[in-house]
Amino acid sequence: MRTFDYARVQSPAQAVGSHGAPGQPAYLAGGTTLLDLVKLDVMQPDRLVDINHLALKQVEPLADGRVRIGALVSNTDLARHPLIRQHYAVLSQAILAGASTQLRNKATTGGNIMQRVRCNYFRDGVSPCNKRQPGSGCAAIGGHNRSVHAVLGTSEHCIATHPSDMCVAMLAIGAQVTVQGPQGIGEIPFADFHLLPGNTPWLEHALKPHELITHVTLDAPLANSRSAYLKLRDRDSYQFALASSAVIVVMDGQRVKDARVAMGGVGTKPWRALEAERALIGQQAGIELFTQAGERAMQGARAYEHNAFKIPLGQQVVTRNLRDLTA
Ligand code: SF4
Repeated sequence: MRTFDYARVQSPAQAVGSHGAPGQPAYLAGGTTLLDLVKLDVMQPDRLVDINHLALKQVEPLADGRVRIGALVSNTDLARHPLIRQHYAVLSQAILAGASTQLRNKATTGGNIMQRVRCNYFRDGVSPCNKRQPGSGCAAIGGHNRSVHAVLGTSEHCIATHPSDMCVAMLAIGAQVTVQGPQGIGEIPFADFHLLPGNTPWLEHALKPHELITHVTLDAPLANSRSAYLKLRDRDSYQFALASSAVIVVMDGQRVKDARVAMGGVGTKPWRALEAERALIGQQAGIELFTQAGERAMQGARAYEHNAFKIPLGQQVVTRNLRDLTA
């Protein structure tokens, strides 16, 4: 049996400061990822810093039209919040498409951003996995790589998808992640927060050592926009995306005036489909345009032995979402 220390903190500064204690720490919020991985012996923190008592549970409108979300707002509370439902439908839909009711009640905004990959070889604790044990190899390349493995943003060292639905919607909306660390408070653009695996797949995010996410601030919603999240998966609940899309459009009659497209289930990080957006903006809406946008979204995709189906599926999840949203 492994033993670990436990500390309950009352402020972000205290949380960050508690890292001065010896050993490898981990922040405990909802625990829906961390406790699983500790039980599986994939993560072995020496010290759990319980941040559940921090005052980070508010969703607040800001004077400039943005919305600030505390890192400890539960996924359920965020999805059901009137501001989110009214102005950020895509975010509410994406959260409700993820996990189960019980998990959403416990899981937090900060924890969702920080969740780890669902690759079976990462979680089994014994297979070669560069993310769990740098330099050991990647059992998924050449192994079973169907549902939670990517076709965009992969490297020869890791091909696991980022599992979050919420993050895909936040990427489409645009956001800033506020972090507090030993050196003070800083902000990271959401698009830069998650890292591609490259040669260092064990580095998953832009947080510096000991930094804690305190808030996420969503950009002001695009005026007169409509938005939707579409998730395709093996079964209709409690399942990760094979391919998903978060789409926001502003229409000017039949013309696409503005568009944001982000994808889940296909990339090693939440994936912004900038080429699809460029194809859409200023063009006459219609199935030909939406098909072209779907193809552009998957530009540069590379399939592995069991997941080639994700390339046409990714195209379809963008095309269908655009078609339905503009119908
Ligand atoms: Fe590990 Fe990534 Fe390979 Fe999965 S895909 S075994 S997480 S290195």
